[in-house]
Amino acid sequence: MTELVTSFAAVRTATAHRGTVGLVPTMGYLHEGHLSLMTRARRDVDIVVSSVFVNPLQFNEASDLEVYPRNLDRDVALAAEAGVDIVFAPPLEEMYAQEPVTRVVVSALTETMEGLHRPGHFEGVATVVAKLFAGIQPDSAYFGRKDGQQLAVVRRLAADLSFPVTVVGCPIVRESSGLALSSRNHRLDEQDRQRALALSQGLMAAADDIEAGVLDAAPLLKTALAPAERMDGVEPEYAVLASQQSMQSVERIVEPVVLAVAAWVGDVRLIDNIHVDMVDGHLVVDRGVKLARPSILFAHRGGA
Ligand code: AMP
Repeated sequence: MTELVTSFAAVRTATAHRGTVGLVPTMGYLHEGHLSLMTRARRDVDIVVSSVFVNPLQFNEASDLEVYPRNLDRDVALAAEAGVDIVFAPPLEEMYAQEPVTRVVVSALTETMEGLHRPGHFEGVATVVAKLFAGIQPDSAYFGRKDGQQLAVVRRLAADLSFPVTVVGCPIVRESSGLALSSRNHRLDEQDRQRALALSQGLMAAADDIEAGVLDAAPLLKTALAPAERMDGVEPEYAVLASQQSMQSVERIVEPVVLAVAAWVGDVRLIDNIHVDMVDGHLVVDRGVKLARPSILFAHRGGA
């Protein structure tokens, strides 16, 4: 049975003496990307807790926060199917009883990409993640590679603040078309969904090039951005090749990196990336995994 709780104290009571605890933080409006983290957690730990909280602190645009999709009943049902034991959906007053004057700032790693284009975003993310780690005390926590810089920031935050938690990064889940799943996709109409494919198409072309031995940033960034630059209605914001560890730009792939892009499709801002890992001394591109059928975000509209 999946339990819905709304306070940190209730999470700790529900998890006490029941073995290892895995945490999957989300902002809700769940899709298969979130569910893949929950499924992974289910394999790893005894008790799976998933938080559903739209964190105002990490929204740099008030309008983005306003239109962020929400549906807790739907989220609880989906989390239950994925084997989540406890859904933690705190009201604003539980998370921020008072304006938090204590904030977590992760420097250096946040000077590029999302950190540069969304002022204050990572301070909001780091603060809420630190609160979740402190209040729930999970043994492991699951984050998607979809938000590659966020994953790096959370890893560093856990290390720097000595949270006894193992941070696990999970592959990007994509529509069969290649579009990376995002709760924000819900706001794309059919035409914008087609346009949005420019992001993943550019990244997959760059992935092909990397596998063919192209390792310099300049040609890879050009390839990654080309479809978005050509597409009407798509406004690219950046393409960056960055070290997975430091999130600083690199000129050439000589260590694990992320090739990340951000673009506006109409009034929806989308991000996507591929990770390049070092496995047994070889570079391996992680393109993510594709769904065989349309995502539950779109199933009711038919087709992806
Ligand atoms: P969000 O609800 O957007 O804050 O995302 C919650 C978690 O789900 C974060 O760790 C995200 O990186 C992860 N996530 C979101 N979309 C995807 C996706 N398409 N594939 C894998 N993980 C994802």
